[in-house]
Amino acid sequence: MLIMNKITITTTNSIENSTIQKYIELISTNVVVGTNFFSDFGASFTDIFGGFSNTYQNKLQRIYKIAISNLKEEAFRLGANAIVSLKVDFDEISGKGKSMFMVSAVGMAVSVKYTKTDLSQLELGSTQISFNQLEKEITKRLIVKQLEKGELPTKEQWVYLMSNPIDEIIQDLLKNYLELSDNHEYLDERKKLLQENFAEYIKQTNPDIAINTLYSNISLHFKKIWNLLNRTNLFSPQNILNLIEENNLKIAIKCLAIKKEFYTKEDLLLMKKIIDHIDSLPDTGKIEFSKDGLLSKEKERYICQDGHKNNLEFKFCLGDGCGVNIKGLKEDDCRLIESYRLKVDSLDFLING
Ligand SMILES: [Zn+2]
Repeated sequence: MLIMNKITITTTNSIENSTIQKYIELISTNVVVGTNFFSDFGASFTDIFGGFSNTYQNKLQRIYKIAISNLKEEAFRLGANAIVSLKVDFDEISGKGKSMFMVSAVGMAVSVKYTKTDLSQLELGSTQISFNQLEKEITKRLIVKQLEKGELPTKEQWVYLMSNPIDEIIQDLLKNYLELSDNHEYLDERKKLLQENFAEYIKQTNPDIAINTLYSNISLHFKKIWNLLNRTNLFSPQNILNLIEENNLKIAIKCLAIKKEFYTKEDLLLMKKIIDHIDSLPDTGKIEFSKDGLLSKEKERYICQDGHKNNLEFKFCLGDGCGVNIKGLKEDDCRLIESYRLKVDSLDFLING
């Protein structure tokens, strides 16, 4: 995923110090959000800065980032290493009293070759580094070094991290976060800071890295990670599919309730694939003729995966502490699946009409 950051992207039709070797494909992405995404626009009108409220601008920035990240992902998938002629449009679509906001980005995925001599010229060029930039780099290095020794960030460092996130430290922070005691009283100050700031910090980092780090730990630390994913809206259909394929069905189903800030066509395809997987789950129980005791009549019964016999009208096994249906799913799981279906259908309507 890190490789995606190496994809150069430009609004011009060439890239300095390089030659385009192959025009691969015109690629595009649409990110649609409801305008209630901007609902705190009015509330924060007072902090207008340069014509836009900070919050409004931050949110636009986030949609923009997601659109760009989608394009880069697509370019990477196609084997391109750059995107040229990037065009981004912001549009408001409204009708019937509702309005949506759409960002579309189009660009040409290309394969470029950088000329080495030019690269070294670039490095020797008249680059200027401000003291501010230097100070940031030093702070970053201090935080990384400190973490390697097991020292958590201080209050001032968290302030720095929130506006200058370091993607590489998520793994380390997560490891420390998972070790935190649930009892707030037993935490020293830096641990408390980690507990309070970690979710917000995740939101500031590269979502691809955050998603991979969190989902790869979820089967061992379900409760804490699920809570983080839920608070940071990091729904990832691809990772949920992986969980299903790794036989972590129960965890995968719980993850269906997690939200995402923006859904793309690609998401929708994967989300439908999850439903196909769930629909084709094999039966773990069976329906067959049997009787409860020697004297009772033989009739059709639902027999759960643990062999409990139920009258047919009970979809969920009445066995002690059992409660599974013929697919081995509990009532709670089925409810999550039903609301997920509704979500996918609605999204399908919004995207495909
Ligand atoms: Zn049972």
